[in-house]
Amino acid sequence: MTDFSATKALFHMPEGVIYLDGNSLGPLPLSASERVARTVEAEWGEMLITGWNKAGWMARPTDLGDRIGRLIGAEKGTVVLGDTLSIKVYQALASALELNPDRRVVLSDSGNFPSDLYIAEGLLKSLGRGYTLKVVAPEEVEAAIDETIAVTMITEVDYRTGRKHDMARLTAKAHAKGAVAVWDLAHSAGAVEVDLAGVGADFAVGCTYKYLNGGPGAPAFIYVAPRHADSARPALSGWLGHDAPFAFELNYRPHRGIERMRVGTPPVIAMAALEAALDIWDMTTMADVRARSLELTDRFIAGVEATCPMLKLVTPRDHQTRGSQVSFAFPDGYAAMQALIARGVIGDFRAPDIMRFGFTPLYIGPQDVDAAVAIIAEVMNQRLWDRPEFKARSRVT
Ligand SMILES: *Cc1c(COP(=O)(O)O)cnc(C)c1O
Repeated sequence: MTDFSATKALFHMPEGVIYLDGNSLGPLPLSASERVARTVEAEWGEMLITGWNKAGWMARPTDLGDRIGRLIGAEKGTVVLGDTLSIKVYQALASALELNPDRRVVLSDSGNFPSDLYIAEGLLKSLGRGYTLKVVAPEEVEAAIDETIAVTMITEVDYRTGRKHDMARLTAKAHAKGAVAVWDLAHSAGAVEVDLAGVGADFAVGCTYKYLNGGPGAPAFIYVAPRHADSARPALSGWLGHDAPFAFELNYRPHRGIERMRVGTPPVIAMAALEAALDIWDMTTMADVRARSLELTDRFIAGVEATCPMLKLVTPRDHQTRGSQVSFAFPDGYAAMQALIARGVIGDFRAPDIMRFGFTPLYIGPQDVDAAVAIIAEVMNQRLWDRPEFKARSRVT
């Protein structure tokens, strides 16, 4: 069993804060400051250009990719880091569409994060030739997978409601109908157990600044199933995805395997922070994290429902279909969340009326849940949110 008090001690948490927003941005691992300083001073400062070899910078996108791969059930050598999630969505979707050249429809759902839908829209417009994006309600995805679908592009856990799709079932249906399955793991990696190899996913993408705690702007990752690794054509054919980047050939030849999904120069300093976060992940298993996460979300739901009748649960009660967050609908949710943040309970708000709380066993325990519930009950029952200063909206909600 994982010692979660030991992992908790390895994060910096400001005094008086109960942090329930690790689903948006994970907190600072204590060792990240030192790890980043070492990269800046001892590596960049002293090694200069030789750091690409001597400090292993060039190999880091695949080294760290393998460490993330363990958390999402990926085979060794199938995950690489780089760029942002939006970019990786583009790459995965473009490659997937080429593997299914006779079909023209991409299927997604209305619970997907808008950036994925926007990226798909932009890519399909560039491709022209009759490509369309079909967006259905999350509960209609399975029925909508038919012989017209080229690619299913689904985010496993809904960022607003915390509803979780059945990845194995939808992947099997996609394959039965001849579609290629692309999964977005933004709210899954480090949150729920994922078995990419087991379910037979074709492509997967995700970010590392949410549950994985890699820091603001930490690089994204992409997974390509081994059966496609040498045939998927990278649409973003940058020099570091070339078979021989330092031969400086005039024409592009993709690298063998996952490295073809690299584009350009990797973010070395950001990867140093992520490396520190992954050291903490090495102390646990996703089975332990998932069991604890369900315990925490069950406890939170029970506590809030017992004290705050005005909050309406929108997250599934059923463990099979719940991610690692709990969301409640409340018409004045924005102001209520601002009032909670002012009292140290940090969650976030998603339009139009969702109050969202993320649960992250590495640094949140049952006592934090109970303390948060007590503060939420006070704010809601005494209408402490009903003040002008809590209603003014900031740029980032
Ligand atoms: C968080 C999130 C993103 C964000 O993309 P970035 O390029 O990292 O800004 C995209 N898609 C999903 C599903 C997300 O949850």
